[in-house]
Amino acid sequence: MSVHPQDSIRFRLTFWYTLTLGVILAVSGLFSYYYFSFSLRQQVDVELREIARQIDRHQDEIFDPVADSVNCQPMHNLVNQFNWDAFIQLRSVKFHAACASENLLGEELQFGGVARQQVRWLNQHLESVEKSAGRSQRLLTHPVIAEGKLVGVAQVAICFGASEETINQLRLIYLLVGPFAVIWLGVGCWFLADRLITPVIDITDAAHGINADNLDKRLPTRGCQDELERMVISLNRMLERLEDQFRRVRQFSGDASHELRTPLTILRGETEVAQRWAKTPEEFRDILISNVEEIDRMERIIENLLTLSKSEVGELPLDIKEFSLSDLIQGLYLQSKILGEPKQIQVDFDYQAEKEILIKGDELRLRQMFLNLISNGVKYTDEEGSLMIRLSLDGDMAQVEIADSGIGMESHHLPRIFDRFYRVDKARNRMDGGTGLGLSIVRWIGEAHGGSVTVTSVPGKGSTFTVRLPVAGPDTLTPPS
Ligand code: ADP
Repeated sequence: MSVHPQDSIRFRLTFWYTLTLGVILAVSGLFSYYYFSFSLRQQVDVELREIARQIDRHQDEIFDPVADSVNCQPMHNLVNQFNWDAFIQLRSVKFHAACASENLLGEELQFGGVARQQVRWLNQHLESVEKSAGRSQRLLTHPVIAEGKLVGVAQVAICFGASEETINQLRLIYLLVGPFAVIWLGVGCWFLADRLITPVIDITDAAHGINADNLDKRLPTRGCQDELERMVISLNRMLERLEDQFRRVRQFSGDASHELRTPLTILRGETEVAQRWAKTPEEFRDILISNVEEIDRMERIIENLLTLSKSEVGELPLDIKEFSLSDLIQGLYLQSKILGEPKQIQVDFDYQAEKEILIKGDELRLRQMFLNLISNGVKYTDEEGSLMIRLSLDGDMAQVEIADSGIGMESHHLPRIFDRFYRVDKARNRMDGGTGLGLSIVRWIGEAHGGSVTVTSVPGKGSTFTVRLPVAGPDTLTPPS
């Protein structure tokens, strides 16, 4: 599946990085430009107002509103005294240009309509005036007032000078360098994104090549410790689990068909024998009895398989109620005595709890679980052996032990006996009519109740199965994974 260029992570990374950095660059440029211009203007304005204030203080000597005249000498004295390099222009009350500082070189400071109007209203007027070669001036037009009346006008101007040039250069640099910086940034991001994305593409390609036939393949690791490596390790672990599950499913379906095929083959063989050789009704009867046994066996296998697969998809909900575990085990003890009778197995019951044990659980399922363990105990114990059922309470866990003096198992079989169709001795097991599914059902019921089933065994001496169940019911514990 190909990715549209606009949808690729590489494109989106580059686009958003470049856009973000471009915006940051533009905003910071604009901010610093306006901030510096503003503070420069502020500085100049303070200076202009100070000069106007000094002229105000000497207004009596300078302005004569009645004669509409201005005395220039005190102004020149002030210029010399304070060493002002500002341009100064004084106007009479009727706005005639009167005195000008020498640095004006005969030029007149601008006195536009707005400034005139403001002065008439006795307001100051501040403006920036563009001069030649991109230079500009700050010009203050100040009404000189005595007893609430206008007596003259003082105009003061200062060139922005070197600071303004620096600011203008800064603006130029931003305008010229900014777009280049953004373009370079975009190109850099594009290659960087490529380096980041290449391993993802490699992983995707490798993942594409993995299917049910080659689940043993793994995604390539790069030997570094970044997030991608962690993702690859997690995916590889997931593949391991999948491979294991696939292997189990394959083995299970192989085992299941084999288990069903065996009784079918026997059925077929015996029926053919009956067809060819059986003559007397007794011979037919014997073969039919054997056939019914095989059909029974198939029925049990299918029933057990159905139970297990329904339990896996959660279609066998437990009917949880409080009941007496003591009564249940007592009843099973009596039943096991009957089960053990044909082999003269001595069955004992060891009740170690001080009071009746009440437990929350599915009584029928728990009965099925204990019965499976008891019938295994009887099945795998030779004549005149013994079977012990022990019930005890360990904190908030009820414990049931079923110990037999039977054939036992080698320790390497123990981790696998709860697997479906696993048998220690296949030949013997068939003769005993086992399906190899009993312990799988036992484990499911135990774990579904939030409990556990464990086993210890010594070959030739016997086996002990221990079931531990929370008396408060399955919801009180986290079910095992
Ligand atoms: P089956 O129906 O064949 O008994 P189970 O799942 O109940 O299947 O048991 C699996 C295998 O575990 C049996 O085939 C048997 O070899 C072994 N096993 C189970 N219980 C006992 C026991 N009490 N003593 C010895 N072996 C046992």
